[in-house]
Amino acid sequence: MPKTIIISNRLPIKVQRTETGLAYETSEGGLATGLGSIYKTDDNIWIGWPGTFFNDEAEQEQVSKDLSEQSMHPVFLTEAEIRDFYEGFSNETLWPSFHYFSQYAVYDDTFWEAYQQVNRKFCQAVMERAEPGDTIWVHDYQLLLLPQMVREEVAESTIGFFQHIPFPSYEVFRLLPWREQILKGMLGADLVGFHTFDDARHFLSSVSRIVGWTSSQNLIDNGHRQIMVDAFPMGIDYEKYASLAASEEMKEKLKEYREALHDQKVMLSIDRLDYSKGIPQRLRGFELLLQEHPEFREKVTLFMLVVPSRDQVEQYRELKETIDELVGRINSSYRTITWNPIQYFYRSFPLEELSALYALADIALVTPMRDGMNLVCKEFVASKLDQSGVLILSEMAGAAKELSDALLINPNDLGAMVLAMQEAMVMPEEEQKLRMQHMQEILQQYDIHHWVSIFMNRLDYIKIKQMSLA
Ligand code: UDP
Repeated sequence: MPKTIIISNRLPIKVQRTETGLAYETSEGGLATGLGSIYKTDDNIWIGWPGTFFNDEAEQEQVSKDLSEQSMHPVFLTEAEIRDFYEGFSNETLWPSFHYFSQYAVYDDTFWEAYQQVNRKFCQAVMERAEPGDTIWVHDYQLLLLPQMVREEVAESTIGFFQHIPFPSYEVFRLLPWREQILKGMLGADLVGFHTFDDARHFLSSVSRIVGWTSSQNLIDNGHRQIMVDAFPMGIDYEKYASLAASEEMKEKLKEYREALHDQKVMLSIDRLDYSKGIPQRLRGFELLLQEHPEFREKVTLFMLVVPSRDQVEQYRELKETIDELVGRINSSYRTITWNPIQYFYRSFPLEELSALYALADIALVTPMRDGMNLVCKEFVASKLDQSGVLILSEMAGAAKELSDALLINPNDLGAMVLAMQEAMVMPEEEQKLRMQHMQEILQQYDIHHWVSIFMNRLDYIKIKQMSLA
């Protein structure tokens, strides 16, 4: 029976060496859950890097054996590969370019060489396991060349590709020295998916201008094969967040937090440390709110969680310093003996704690400069069982396309951000409920499981369409 092979840079598991041997920790992320319905059934598998370096052959064998029992197959990467392919080309070239931060992009041939070589390594891993008739689903910007590499090995393969980060407009994408090779890599797929229609449109425009292949109604015809390009906004595991929020433990925790905070409103901000997330802008907005609206002082606390990420890289280190300074400045200017405007945490939190914070927050501030989708805002909405709470959301997040009942703002427009915070502080309960209810209906219906099945169905559809034209 034909199987499905999922490929992503990281496996949905982290392997670690401990004193008692190898330890395996499965990922709780939404994508891992959604794709669990695929790779955990039949003969389907997931191929990717296990997150730790294994140079010893015996150890590699052990890891491969253990993982294969869980339908996973590791691609072992060396430290040099991770440095140049992952931290280098993926995170210092593609990530800034695709998030409209081209000024941060590093154009380095060594990184590009490593990127091609590691994509080839993934291709070999696929070829070792693929059989005729299998469906191959490649994920994200670390593996943009893989669809074409697989296609060259087996011309009739069924290949889907999904990009989890934005695809920039042609004027930005064209700045990449390897723009044509990258597009051709992606065009090896039969179905190319993005979170939003705008990303898909930008991709089609780059294909037409750089590769010269035109499209009609989201279908590119390269003379041999039709390639479909479409938007698949990724959902969350809605039930998980809703049921966590409903648990007895959570209610207890919430009561405890509420008592400690008295009648204060809670604003919540949760991100990885990244320049795309607009954290300094958000802090300036909050500072302006306190400056222009003294009536809100001592009435609101901003809980700001920043998850450490890439903080060895210069831009990230600088960003961390900017955030530290801003938090220090705002807290020292406005704090009173009994109130601190910002509760700032620079660490990651377990799911239960996040869930309690979502349930606690009166206002979620999600204001990225650019975000492929943004799951935090969706998780906040799913956790609001009593349908109270206001979401302030950046127009530049993919999620804004679905969540039009949020207070949408341009993160560069500080005035608009302050206005939205002010509106959120005084929004009548009834209006909060109306907006929240509508957003919940959307997220409940278009959850992660729906996303997986829609993508797979569309891939089947384009394959049948190709055959009917052959
Ligand atoms: N998250 C987490 N621990 C934390 C903070 C966040 O596991 O301490 C999770 C959060 O629940 C969400 C994800 O990290 O599912 C962030 O996803 P998002 O799409 O918002 O941003 P990304 O970091 O992928 O750009």
